[in-house]
Amino acid sequence: MDLYNETAVNVATLLQEPVGSSRSYGLHLDRLELDSDLVARDVNGELRLTRLSDEILANVTATATVGLTCLRCLEQYEQPTKTRFQEEFRIAYDVRSGAAIRSSDDDERFAITDAHELNILEPLRQELIVSLPMRPDCGDACPGPAVVSTGGNDEIDDRFAALGALLNSTNED
Ligand SMILES: [Zn+2]
Repeated sequence: MDLYNETAVNVATLLQEPVGSSRSYGLHLDRLELDSDLVARDVNGELRLTRLSDEILANVTATATVGLTCLRCLEQYEQPTKTRFQEEFRIAYDVRSGAAIRSSDDDERFAITDAHELNILEPLRQELIVSLPMRPDCGDACPGPAVVSTGGNDEIDDRFAALGALLNSTNED
């Protein structure tokens, strides 16, 4: 069973099976929006769901490619990344009666919907963001900072602008 460009799984059958039952799915997403201007492409991995007493445990592994801006040369590059995480999904509705199951107020687990769907979109999105490097770097072949600054709000650009101003004032002397 595979998920293609889909992150929600219907777990109605799994919910009717004994504790310990599990299912595995291949995961293939062409595109996953991580943030307003951050997109993961070619997300491939595996999703394993295990039925526990009051929840379903999801084990997810995934690789992806994310377009980032290199902090040194300021060029866009493709950053390969991977993640591996576990997420608990609370059983919020009884699969036979459909009745809502109460939870404590401090329960921070994701909930399985009243249609018995479990969606890994939000945890996957968060985990992929966390997997990205704090200081994006296009690698050993990075040409380094551009000699001519194009301006802008970036920290490196500002430093070059300051250096340029300094050189100009020296030349004028
Ligand atoms: Zn670079």
